[in-house]
Amino acid sequence: MQTPHVVTDDAPALQTDEATASRIHFDIFTLFPQMFSGPFDESIIQRARANGLISWALHNIRDYTTDRHHVCDDTPYGGGGGMIMKPQPIFRAIETVLSRPAGWVLPAEAAYVSLPPWEAEAPPSLPPAVPVILLSPQGRLLNQQIVLELSQYRRLALICGRYEGVDERVASRLATDELSIGDYVLSGGELAAMVLVDALTRLVPGALGHCLAAHQDSHSPGLGGLLEGPHYTRPLTFRQETAPEILLSGHHAQVHQWRREQALARTLVRRPDLLESAALSATDLAFLRRLGWEPKA
Ligand code: SAM
Repeated sequence: MQTPHVVTDDAPALQTDEATASRIHFDIFTLFPQMFSGPFDESIIQRARANGLISWALHNIRDYTTDRHHVCDDTPYGGGGGMIMKPQPIFRAIETVLSRPAGWVLPAEAAYVSLPPWEAEAPPSLPPAVPVILLSPQGRLLNQQIVLELSQYRRLALICGRYEGVDERVASRLATDELSIGDYVLSGGELAAMVLVDALTRLVPGALGHCLAAHQDSHSPGLGGLLEGPHYTRPLTFRQETAPEILLSGHHAQVHQWRREQALARTLVRRPDLLESAALSATDLAFLRRLGWEPKA
């Protein structure tokens, strides 16, 4: 039995100031925090953090175990293959972290000790404004609309499962949402969490160079939910294919119209299902009808 150690709020200021000021703070709960090095150290995510637009804290679920061997998984009741992530370390990690200000991380010397108690009868109430998202292949399928909704929050908690998944009570009693990044199964929720952080970061004002870029992306409101049309850059001709002349015309209205039609045509060919819920003008509808498309009644 280890000596209980009081977990205080004098934890390292790791990202506390940064987190308080940032537009979105991510608390990521994982057994493999090092997986985030690399993807989080490059490009837009790294720059957004450096500019104080986003912040994150990686919480190792194993640090919240109290047993000698720091066990986070166990065999499933009823038998069957694989291991299941135990509920207690996950509950304890989430309840400890979310009852403290964004940016708080467990001090290294406090890992593996027994506070707060495992089976707290009255666990610390979690802040209602912080969604607790379990990444799961059984969750709501992530799309740009969900990303937009989540971008309204200042703080998000992401739980990354491993093995055969998490004990069901994590889903039923702790998570407020379950999200899947696609109808396939990954080995863990870490890559899914990175996908979500990336998609959300693009929506934080100032994270992208061009302020309208995210708004005009495929699936986004600026495009009415369509796919974006093709882009070209120099050279004008490459391997016998020349960029469309209209793009060099300098005629903004015509370029705009051409882009809209390209987006409509491309969506029709690649994702006709999106047209049913897209925001379409009378001109759009007329164009699509010329291509043989009719909205379903
Ligand atoms: N046995 C689970 C099932 O059939 O639903 C799959 C477990 S999977 C091997 C391990 C973990 O990877 C999951 O708990 C989840 O966190 C993550 N994961 C796998 N596929 C995912 C997906 N498509 N979207 C989000 N997370 C996923």
